[in-house]
Amino acid sequence: MSYFGSVKFFKHIIISVAFLILIFPYSVLIYIILGSNIDQKQVYNTSESINSTTQDMLSFNAYKILHANQMSKEVLSILPSKDIISYQQKYKDLYVERKNFSNVVSNEKIAYLTFDDGPSNITLDILDILDNYKIKATFFVIYKDDDLSLKVYKEIVNRGHTLAVHSASHIYKDIYNSVDDYLDDFYKMFMHIYEVTGVKPNLFRFPGGSINSYNVNIYQELISEMLRRGFVYYDWNVTSGDAVKGATKEDIVKSVSNGLREYNKIIVLMHDSATKKNTSESLPKIIENLQNEGFRFDKLDGTVSPIEFGYSE
Ligand code: ZN
Repeated sequence: MSYFGSVKFFKHIIISVAFLILIFPYSVLIYIILGSNIDQKQVYNTSESINSTTQDMLSFNAYKILHANQMSKEVLSILPSKDIISYQQKYKDLYVERKNFSNVVSNEKIAYLTFDDGPSNITLDILDILDNYKIKATFFVIYKDDDLSLKVYKEIVNRGHTLAVHSASHIYKDIYNSVDDYLDDFYKMFMHIYEVTGVKPNLFRFPGGSINSYNVNIYQELISEMLRRGFVYYDWNVTSGDAVKGATKEDIVKSVSNGLREYNKIIVLMHDSATKKNTSESLPKIIENLQNEGFRFDKLDGTVSPIEFGYSE
């Protein structure tokens, strides 16, 4: 009797089918469980690699933040940006050529007197005093269009001083509302100076300084946009304290003298406004004190390495 068709054959068939029915699902189940473990491992590995990428990005961002202060302005201005930000498209004529900073290290004592918020009815007095001492200074001005102010802008330039942008409106909450708003105000002042004097100002000073409570959310974006356009801004390291209510001439003179400390290069903050007659009247004494301390005077011109609160060279 052949094997096929025998009782043994049918027994084997039944056993095989039973085996397949019972064993096969278990095998598949085991395979799925093992497989899912492998998948989980892969997922885990993937998430690990995502984590490390994120960490790399985080440390890159930290690197950028940590080293932003040390990055040269040239590097900042050519950082590639994937999307051109809309305000970068504004005012195609609001660009100036940045000069190279003179990196001559010397122990020579130099004082840069700076006057903010003019023109005013004391500007001509200030200009006469500076002429008497044969000193050049820097004026960060605001927008005015009365006859005296137009004359003052021109006098500042004609007498060889630096005329620079402060702000058109000088209203903090408006200009620091956004980078766009700042540019709108800056452009108005920039064009006003250019139209009145024929000089394109390449320096500016932020109202309230480069970091203040009004621009704290936008100052980094704002500063890099201004640097990208070629402008140089100057804060100060010595203040005359003339903006303090009730400051006397003696207070102002003393504030400058006390502020000298160990600095060889000082940028002195003073104000040029109708309410600051004490400033112009204390100016001769301030100048003489600085001369006695061994300082010579100069104007800011864009080659002077800036003193900045936000970014330092
Ligand atoms: Zn000001």
